[in-house]
Amino acid sequence: MQAFVAHRVVTSDGIRPAAILVEGERIQAVVPPDQISSGYKIHDFGDAVILPGLVDSHVHINDPGRAEWEGFEMATRAAAAGGYTMLVDMPVNCLPATSTTAALQAKRAAAYGRCRVDWAAWGGVVHDNQSDIEALAAAGVRGFKCFLIDPGIDGFTMVNEQQLRLALPHVARTGLPLLVHAELPGPVDRATAALTNADWSRYSTYLDSRPDEAELAAIRLMLALCREYRFRLHIVHLSTGRALPELRAARAEGLAVSVETCPHYLHLRAEEIPMGATLSKCAPPIRSHENCEKLWQGLGDKTIDLVVTDHSPCPPGMKRLAEGDFRTAWGGIASLSVALPLMWTEASQRGFTLVDLAQWMAAGPARLSGCDNRKGRIAAGFEADFVVFDADREFIVTEDKLHYRHAVSPYLGETLRGVVKATYLRGNPVFTEGEFPGEPRGHEYAAERSR
Ligand SMILES: [Zn+2]
Repeated sequence: MQAFVAHRVVTSDGIRPAAILVEGERIQAVVPPDQISSGYKIHDFGDAVILPGLVDSHVHINDPGRAEWEGFEMATRAAAAGGYTMLVDMPVNCLPATSTTAALQAKRAAAYGRCRVDWAAWGGVVHDNQSDIEALAAAGVRGFKCFLIDPGIDGFTMVNEQQLRLALPHVARTGLPLLVHAELPGPVDRATAALTNADWSRYSTYLDSRPDEAELAAIRLMLALCREYRFRLHIVHLSTGRALPELRAARAEGLAVSVETCPHYLHLRAEEIPMGATLSKCAPPIRSHENCEKLWQGLGDKTIDLVVTDHSPCPPGMKRLAEGDFRTAWGGIASLSVALPLMWTEASQRGFTLVDLAQWMAAGPARLSGCDNRKGRIAAGFEADFVVFDADREFIVTEDKLHYRHAVSPYLGETLRGVVKATYLRGNPVFTEGEFPGEPRGHEYAAERSR
């Protein structure tokens, strides 16, 4: 029996001095600090904050098949160092892609015994796997992911509207969410064709090639299909603030639509990305300063439900750093180790609190991935997943703070607010002051696992 004590514990009711009483892997009760009965091993974190272990429902682990990009061991280490206790893996970058139950079993084999935090899988909806969708749901995926535009990776195909219409009745029957990369190829192809002679070492060229209209058209299509097929729609990595009014209206209409964005859209600005700085390439793209502020307003008025990393590493060579070519560089930003301080740096300046962060980065993603009966909150009955966060200290992002397979990042050299001191997974330390104690204890989240 353990008691985790701090002056600031982030519960769903607010921030207060508390002791979290833990028996085995679960929280028994949250009590005032002076009400710890005897028999508890006390961990007193003083002025540091205890937040619920973060849940990231948008991570590309690349395993099996592309573990040289980053596999389960390194991704879950980076997660533990960043305060995450649960990752949900995208079906895209692994080989085979997670679009059949056989591929899901291959992923389970790759993950077994190698994870420092808990994990679960999204299944893929690709051009020809409509008949696999319900079997994937029965086998334990938390929901589905599809691309409306070519993802640019071998092994995972996009879906057009016709293919989507074949898949959606199956998706709707599962009751699970469909996560959609919402950009349509038409506006991107037209914009790119007009840029043949442009300078692709400039970020503005890349931004021009992926206009807001590509996202807006895709979101309009998905909202119409949601109205028709009545499935749970989730828009991943919203980048354009211009879609917010329509998303707000769709929710007011009663459609089951949720929305996420990512730390890079909330922290980086197109105007400030230097020539050739391909570490900041992702899709949809990072847009203007003004757009960034609209996304923050979307979080403030709750049109955007959650914040996830879209952690998507690759070998440094694929970022084409020498050439600085935004056309050929791999799109993807790794941020598991620093997402919480990135978010706190920006959020605290805007008057948001650690309760907001816990909502966006723990409870929200837990709800999306259907593990919100055990993950994402500090409350009795929940798993004892915590991050101990020194919210007042600043640090400079250096390579030794990035626990990725490849320590590259657009954030190197930045001063950020908030230091992850320790992460606990089901009552056990998985990260403490730069170390990863013990053997990997993470396992796949299984809905049927009894309490
Ligand atoms: Zn992604």
